[in-house]
Amino acid sequence: MVKKSVSDKQKASDRIGEVRCLNCFYRYKVPPGADRFVCPECGWEWRVSWVNPELAKVRGPMWDKMRF
Ligand SMILES: [Zn+2]
Repeated sequence: MVKKSVSDKQKASDRIGEVRCLNCFYRYKVPPGADRFVCPECGWEWRVSWVNPELAKVRGPMWDKMRF
């Protein structure tokens, strides 16, 4: 799966926007600038904030979307 031509720069970019679902710990890559993502594993929707243009962090669940 790893391309031979992948440079270190590209490797680093593979981790850009990578977050982890706090519910099921599924690793998900959010598109740059996205402010939320829906976990494909468990369906929870999470708020995302960007520490810097390359580092996304999960802020917490979208409570208004949750129904308990
Ligand atoms: Zn999940």
